[in-house]
Order: sequence, then C-alpha cells, then structure tokens
Amino acid sequence: MKAGPRSLVLITVDCLRADRVSRSDKQMTTPFLDSLAGDSFVFKNAYASGIPTYYSLPALLASRYPLALGRDVIGIAPGESTIATELKECGFHTAAFVAGNPYVCSADGYSAGFDVFRNFLSGDETEFEPAQNLSSQQSIRERANRRLSKACHSLPALGAAYDEIYFQYCQRSICNDDASFDKLRRFPSADVIVDCALAWLQQNSAGPFFLWLHLMDPHAPYYPKAEALEEMGSEIDSSEARLVNSLWAREGLSSRRLHKKRGSVEALYDGGVRWADRQIDRLCNKLVELNLWDLCALAITADHGEEFMDHGGKFHPPVNLHEELIRVPLLMRVPGDSRGRDVNRPIGLIDLAPTLFDALDIPAPAGFRGRSCWGKLKNNEDWDWPVLTESAYGCTNPFRAETRLASRMLSVRKGVYKLVMNFATGSDHLFELRSDPGEVNPLPAGTAGDVRKQLLQCAKKHVAESLKSRDLGLRFASQARQLRSEWGRELPRPN
Ligand SMILES: [Zn+2]
Repeated sequence: MKAGPRSLVLITVDCLRADRVSRSDKQMTTPFLDSLAGDSFVFKNAYASGIPTYYSLPALLASRYPLALGRDVIGIAPGESTIATELKECGFHTAAFVAGNPYVCSADGYSAGFDVFRNFLSGDETEFEPAQNLSSQQSIRERANRRLSKACHSLPALGAAYDEIYFQYCQRSICNDDASFDKLRRFPSADVIVDCALAWLQQNSAGPFFLWLHLMDPHAPYYPKAEALEEMGSEIDSSEARLVNSLWAREGLSSRRLHKKRGSVEALYDGGVRWADRQIDRLCNKLVELNLWDLCALAITADHGEEFMDHGGKFHPPVNLHEELIRVPLLMRVPGDSRGRDVNRPIGLIDLAPTLFDALDIPAPAGFRGRSCWGKLKNNEDWDWPVLTESAYGCTNPFRAETRLASRMLSVRKGVYKLVMNFATGSDHLFELRSDPGEVNPLPAGTAGDVRKQLLQCAKKHVAESLKSRDLGLRFASQARQLRSEWGRELPRPN
C-alpha cells in the first residue's frame, strides 16, 4: 500500500488577509488554525497570484497566471487542467462547496472535474436565501432611488446634499428594523458549507477524494455569526452592524469619518474569520472521527486579502498590490511529512497545486505553470524564484469586457524586496519589506539600482513568457464560451 496521503482537502477563505490569522493582540481570531501549526508547514510569505477572486483562483486551481490566456479571458478555460480534473482522472471522488460567490460559477468553468459542484447563488436549489432578495418592495425602492441619485449627481452640489440626506434616512430606517445577523448576511455561513461537506464525506470517503470548500464569512458586507462576535468579546449588535456596513460602503465619505468606523468594521471582519476557523475545526474533527485525518493532505489559504484604509482604500479592488491585499495565509499539513515548520521563503499560490500533487505523489499535468517546492520543503532547503502577482487595473466587474482589458498591474517579490508596477499609471515602487512592512516608504528613485534592475528583468521575463507560452487552444475555447454565453447560441468549437 502506498505511503503518504491519498486524499486532498483544500479550503479557501475569501478575503482572509495573512495578518488576521493568529491575531493574539486582542481576542484570538484563529485558535484552531494555530493549533495545526505544530504539524504543518506554515508559510509566512504566501502571495495570491492575482486579485481579486477571479484573478486569484485560476492560479490556485489551474496553476496558471490569471492573464496568461489574454486579458479578455476570465475563469477556467474549457479543457484546462485543474486540481479537480486531474484528480478525477486519477479516480478520486471530487466535490466543491462554494459559499455563494458569483465569480466562482459553472459558466466560468469552475465546476470542471467535480462530481458535485455546489455554489449557493440566488436561484440555486438551496436552503439559503441571500438578504438582498428578502423584499421585492425594497428592490423597487432601491431602483427608484438609484434614478433619483443619478439625477441629483448630475449637479455636484446637489449630489453631495442628496448623499447625506439619503444616508441619514437609511440610518433612521435601520434603527427601526431589528433584522438579525443571520437575516442580513448575503452568503451562507461556514457552518452551512461544512454541513454539506460532512454529508458528502459520509458517502464518498471510502476511496481517494478531493474536497474543496470556499468560505465567505470574512467577505463584505460584514455580518458574522453572532456567536463568533460574542466569543471575540465584541458587543456590536446587528443594528449597529448595519449602520457600520452602510457607512463603510458609502462612496465619497471623508477618510476621517471612515477611520472612526474602522475598529468596528475590523471587529465584524474578525468575527467572520473566527467563525470560519471554528467550522474548519468541525470539519477536521469529522475527518479524525472517520479515520481520514492521517490519509488527507490539507491546505488552507485565501484568494486575496482585504483593505481597511491601510493605504486609503476599502474592500479588495485591484487598484494596488499592497501586502494587505495580496499576502495570504497558507497552511499545509501532509501526514507523515510535516514537522511543524514556519516557512519564510516567499511562495505564490500558483505553486500550491504542483506542490500538493508532489505531496500526493501524483505527476502534475503539463499545463501547470507553477513549480513544486515539495522536495525543498521536505529537505529543509530554500528556493529563490521570484513570486509574481498580476491583475487588470481597476477591473471590479469581470463580466464587462472593457474593464477586463484595462492595463496590467504586476508585483514581483524576491527576498525582502517587492517591486510594484502599474502600467495604467506608468508608475513603479520598490519596497524593502523588512524595514517597511507597511509599504509606506518606497525606496527613492536612483537607490537600490541593482535590485530594481533585477526585479524589472523578472517582470519583463514574466510578460514575455506569458505571451510566448500562451495556449491558443485554451484561449479560443474560452472566447467561444464567452460568445455563446453572451449571444445565447452555439458557436463551432475550435479544434
Ligand atoms: Zn474573493
């Protein structure tokens, strides 16, 4: 019988920035993940290979840079090799449970290779009803309000006055409404996703399996489970959470007013992290109970981080590549081979799939572009390849082709240095992260010339290789899929 793990569990937590794991300055955010550190590899400098979700997951699941098939291509290409398609080929049972993320859908290829693929989007067969669908009257009111807002904003002075009046009106109506956290939440919480996973495991874990969970608990709007908030010692109730969320989402508010609410927003976010941690604990307990714990490789990470005004921004739009947005937690437990080790060497999530395949002793497909670091991890050796992250600048709606075609942003991390280039603005900034972990003081132009040159060469090589090794078959298949979905008719498939 083959030694080592025979199955794989991958958990991605949306918006979980690296520095929110193991937070012990206040209440613990992730007591369970911390407890796993004793027999896991804990990567201290793991980076999403693209942000947000739709630029991160292709690298994570298909080990391919997000813009490698062309900026107009989104999602997993038809016929592209992913962790799921390859393990399915190897005879694994496969399942994915995604907590209602519209960018992780079958239409964009994410269900490929999964026996069971369940997203919890509105209209799916599910027990979960997202909050925005609670009242049709509300949505009629919102539509009317949007028209009024547009009319008012055609005159700058009137627009600002309208914003303030509307916000005050919302605050008053919120105070009269006692909707609970559970009613306000837009996605199923982690307990719902873990329940589905446990039911599936009961039926499908006799042989090798691949289980992927994508949890949304820390994602905005921030409505965590009330129990998690209590455990964290927070006294924010659901009415206050509504006020905080509506204010935080408001455009054009002064940074002084936003900074006043930052603590409350972070407390709500931390509640979501805590709940995800608690449910991952429940899943792992079940694996122990089913005698699967020492047969499974486990990887826990995030698709990207989240900003809380660190550099003046909110949420996770791809408008910069600062640490709070691209550095993610990564924990990997491989039975029999992990010795509880912190790994400081930077790694990109594009390298995770080949590393996991190596740990499972299964050859990675030729289409995976990342590199396995499994051998080096086992032998306690370092590696020195650069870690790259790329996105289309400002693309917050990938369903609109023109936003996808925006200029590229690219960051290169090597050693303690990180170069961030924005081709839209023609700017580049070099940071030395050991002395400036918050990236507030880019090194002045003309300094660290050798490092700057080396990282620029890495960037240039990356762009050249992306073009040279572009898989035109996958590119055309993706374009045809998009045309079919836009025009609603069958087009001939490329050979
Ligand atoms: Zn995301």
